[in-house]
Amino acid sequence: MALLVKHMLGLEQVEREDIETILDTAASLQEISYRPVKKVPTLRGKTQVNLFFEPSTRTRTSFEIAGKRLSADVVNFTASASSLSKGETLADTARNLWAMRPDILVVRHSAAGAPHLLAKLLDTPIINAGDGAHEHPTQALLDMFTVREKKRKLSGLKVVIAGDIAHSRVARSNIYGFSKMGAEVWVVGPPTLIPPGIERMGARVSYRLEEAIPDADVIMMLRIQLERGAGSLFPSLREYAIRFGLNPARMRLCKPDVLVMHPGPINRGVEISPEVADGPYSVILDQVEAGVAVRMALLYLLCAGAEHEDTDQGRT
Ligand code: ASP
Repeated sequence: MALLVKHMLGLEQVEREDIETILDTAASLQEISYRPVKKVPTLRGKTQVNLFFEPSTRTRTSFEIAGKRLSADVVNFTASASSLSKGETLADTARNLWAMRPDILVVRHSAAGAPHLLAKLLDTPIINAGDGAHEHPTQALLDMFTVREKKRKLSGLKVVIAGDIAHSRVARSNIYGFSKMGAEVWVVGPPTLIPPGIERMGARVSYRLEEAIPDADVIMMLRIQLERGAGSLFPSLREYAIRFGLNPARMRLCKPDVLVMHPGPINRGVEISPEVADGPYSVILDQVEAGVAVRMALLYLLCAGAEHEDTDQGRT
């Protein structure tokens, strides 16, 4: 089994068929995480390099655990401990790492398009683990996986994504992903945090949670990305929380089976109140759990694809 794509750079370029293959494969791999010995030999002898040029908690750990559960040799590279701090370019760092013959690279970078550049330079599958404000495809895949597990479908659902849409790679990947799977996607936030033209990506826009959430099946709350300059785009975090925070009063407007999601890190009391984050509608920890299975699926499928290519070219 292989994917149509050779890399996972973003969901804009990925066909619905590939999304289905990834979600189905993740569903079949999920039980490995419940075994007493959480390891299968699928990627034995393969080397996975995680290149993280931006901070990460969940994503890097999740990729590392996913690789190790499949028996890959996992190497973690973080920017602060590397030659980047000595002036080396991304392309040179990548060429040097590639000379050590990794089988798959997982890349997070603050510059949009960095994984795409590496995919052009290197002959190895690349997974985008978040590139600036552009895309975070594995987050959207694990979000879709979580929703599909809970609702048994994606098509026909109304998904509301609320918060700092302008700076969110999670929002972008989820708009592409959920729309391709037949869901109706709404984005909500103050006008300054909604990028112009977002409707062209397939999303409907609202500036009021009260308008969007009453018939929503899924509400995904996003953090304000202060590190990307969002702080200057609204008066204060206190006012933001009052107008756009998901709190128990707003939850009373929602359907009884609504799912509340958040990619983390949560800013409690800003975009989501603790009662909602920890409450009965929240599937936030299910998302984290799904992340391991979805990343196992991608590592497996992309490595298998690369092997087929090598075989096709008579190189193995
Ligand atoms: N963890 C997600 C990301 O890396 C969301 C966030 O940081 O707010 O984009």
